[in-house]
Amino acid sequence: MKSFDIRTKIYFGPNSLDRLSDLPYKRALIITDPFVAKSGMLQMITYRLQDGYTEFEIFSDVVPDPPIEEISKGVKKLLEYAPDCVIAIGGGSAIDSAKAIREFATRGGYKETALIAIPTTSGTGSEVTSFAVVTDPSKDIKYPLVSDSMLPTEAILDADLVKSVPANITADTGMDVLTPAIEAYVSINNNEFSAALAEKAIEICGTFLLRSYLDNNDTHARQKMHVASCLAGLAFNSASLGLNHGAAHALGGKFHIPHGRANAMLLPHIIEYNSGINRHSKSKKEYPPCVRKYVNIAKLLGVNNFNEITTVRALVSWIQFMLKEMNVPLSVSQCGIDRTEYFNAIDSMAEKALADACTATNPRVPTKDEIVQIFEHLYE
Ligand SMILES: [Zn+2]
Repeated sequence: MKSFDIRTKIYFGPNSLDRLSDLPYKRALIITDPFVAKSGMLQMITYRLQDGYTEFEIFSDVVPDPPIEEISKGVKKLLEYAPDCVIAIGGGSAIDSAKAIREFATRGGYKETALIAIPTTSGTGSEVTSFAVVTDPSKDIKYPLVSDSMLPTEAILDADLVKSVPANITADTGMDVLTPAIEAYVSINNNEFSAALAEKAIEICGTFLLRSYLDNNDTHARQKMHVASCLAGLAFNSASLGLNHGAAHALGGKFHIPHGRANAMLLPHIIEYNSGINRHSKSKKEYPPCVRKYVNIAKLLGVNNFNEITTVRALVSWIQFMLKEMNVPLSVSQCGIDRTEYFNAIDSMAEKALADACTATNPRVPTKDEIVQIFEHLYE
C-alpha cells in the first residue's frame, strides 16, 4: 500500500509574505543565520509580524552545515522563549536547523509548535520535506534526520527574497533543484504523484535555471526556480533520493563543498553509473529500467538522440554543459582539493555514502568498490 499527501500549506506568488501579517500565533521564534539577520530580508518578516501583533524573538546563530551543538543552543533558546510558532528564514541550513530544533524540543516534552519555513534560496526544497541534515564535525559526517513530525506547517515562497542571490549561489542551489528532482524520478520509491512533481521541476530547470543564473533581474525566471525547488522537495519527500545525495553528503561532510555543488559534480557520474552505459556494448538490448526514465528526463529538457543510450549520453553532456556555463566545477581537483588528501579520504567517504539513508532508494544497488570508483573518477 502506498499513500501520498502534502501536509504543508504553501503560500506562493507576489506578496505571499503578507501571510505573516495574518498569523493565528502569538509568539514566534525566528530562526535564521547572521547574513539574513543583517540584511533587509529580516525586516520584511518582522514588520509584517508587528502588523499582525505577533511577538517575536530572533535566534540568528545558524551556520552552514548545522552542527549538533548549534542545534542544542537553539533548543535552549526555544525552551526559554516558549513560542507557539517557529519561523525559519534562510537557505537549507536555517530551515533544517529550525526543523531539528523544534523536533528535539518536542521530543523533550515541549508542546506542539507550528513551523513556518521561508526559503531565501531556490534549492533544497527543505520547506516541504520531512528531512533535515545535521553535521557531526568531530566525525566529518552529515546525518539526514527523517520524520514526518519535522514537516513545516506552512511554507512561504516569495521570490522577492531571492532577487539578490549572487550568481554562484543561484548555480549551486539550482543544481540542488535539478538533482533531487532527477533522483526522485528514478528512485525505486517513485510513484505517479512524485513523478508528476519531479517532471515539472525538471522542465522548469531546463528553461529557467540558466536564465536565472545569467540575469538576477530576470524576476520571472527566479520565481519559476523558487517554485521548482518546492516541487522537487515535494517529489523527493514522497519518493526519496539516491546515491547522488548519499555521496554528496559524504563528500560535503569531509571537504565542506557546498551541498548543491557536490550534487552537481556527482550528477553526470551517477547517471552514467545508474544507467550502466559504460558496461554495455551496442549490441546488447537490455538496459536497466532507469534508462527509460533518464530518456524521459532528457526529453523534458529538450535533449534527444538516436537511441536510448545515446540520449542518456546526451543528457550527461547537457548537464556538463550547464555546469560549465554556470562556472560550477566539474571535478574535485577544480575545487582546489589536494589529491593525496582526497584519495586518502575516498575509502571512508565510500563507506559513509553506502550507509547514507538516501542511498537505499537508488535504482542500482551500489557496492563499496563501485562508489570508490565513482569518487576516483570525480577527481579529474
Ligand atoms: Zn539536496
